[in-house]
Amino acid sequence: MAPAIVFIDEIDAIGRTRDSRFGGNDEREQTLNQLLAELDGFDSSKGVVILAATNRPEILDKALLRPGRFDRRITVDRPNLAGRYQTLRVHTKNIKLAEDVDLNKIAQATAGAVGADLANLVNEAALRAVRMGRKAVNQEDLLISFEVVIAGTEKKGTVLTDMEKRMVSYHEVGHALIAALQKHTQPVSKITIVPHTSGALGYTLQMPEEEKFLSSKEELITELETLLGGRAAEQVVFGSMTTGAANDIERATELARRMITQYGMSERFGLMALSTVSNPYLDGSTMMNCADVTAAQADEEIKELLAKCYDKACQVLRENRGLLDEIALFLLQKETITGDELMAYVNADKQQLPAGEEEATPEEPEA
Ligand code: ZN
Repeated sequence: MAPAIVFIDEIDAIGRTRDSRFGGNDEREQTLNQLLAELDGFDSSKGVVILAATNRPEILDKALLRPGRFDRRITVDRPNLAGRYQTLRVHTKNIKLAEDVDLNKIAQATAGAVGADLANLVNEAALRAVRMGRKAVNQEDLLISFEVVIAGTEKKGTVLTDMEKRMVSYHEVGHALIAALQKHTQPVSKITIVPHTSGALGYTLQMPEEEKFLSSKEELITELETLLGGRAAEQVVFGSMTTGAANDIERATELARRMITQYGMSERFGLMALSTVSNPYLDGSTMMNCADVTAAQADEEIKELLAKCYDKACQVLRENRGLLDEIALFLLQKETITGDELMAYVNADKQQLPAGEEEATPEEPEA
């Protein structure tokens, strides 16, 4: 059939390393041996290209990667802005788009999304347009579908008590306010307390202004404070804790762990890497790679870092208690507010204070 391209998807299904530590599998190893033998039989002048794909290159058998076999590697990473734009163009080719659609803006808003997410987004947008009885997909369909993809749709049947609603409202404004008042943060684009099918009772959406490839320690610390801002608001306002912060705490802990064990951002361990990434192309999960004592010390460090960020979040919210109350009440009435509405409150508050004394004059707490 030459010239031809032979493509083998999910090569790890047969190409897994023959190391007996991971448990051998005769049938698979036979297939792999056969494949290796066949690969050697190709004539390099015949114009046959063999391609294979996998998410787990690190578990492939070394013999498979030798020169003359699969000896070149092309990493398909998350697409950048231009990549997302082109991907969106491909997926919207067979869909009628309204004139207001700006795919570049959608590409900007979807930083971190992979091809499958974008395909899903376009599909959701088309469904929404049909439900609304429109003939073409417009910009709003695409933007709302992005939220559907990350948070699920609004769940109409959930009835929260007034107290729960107040709690959720303060919790979300806690996140948003920390993000809005601190430096080194991504702007808040939306806050909602409408329950969603993902199980979230509300969420705060932050949208990066531009694509980022590097994060500084300051930015990560602020991210931690923002994540813990929800729980901090519960503590500052109600003096109690709710189960609503579980996901925030999980994410904050994971970030803090990475800062200390991978990014060398703790004073105690300095530049020592304490963990290694075991499968970088799937979930990026890590394995601790140090003595048990050190691991215990790292846990201690993580705890301290989180406590420090939580204290800071509580402090910021206490100092801006008036603002917190105002916005939480506004959110309670409107249920969904935009980042601009949030910033209007924040900026109005800044103007009331004498210039340069923003930090030095804590607001009178309101009952
Ligand atoms: Zn939260």
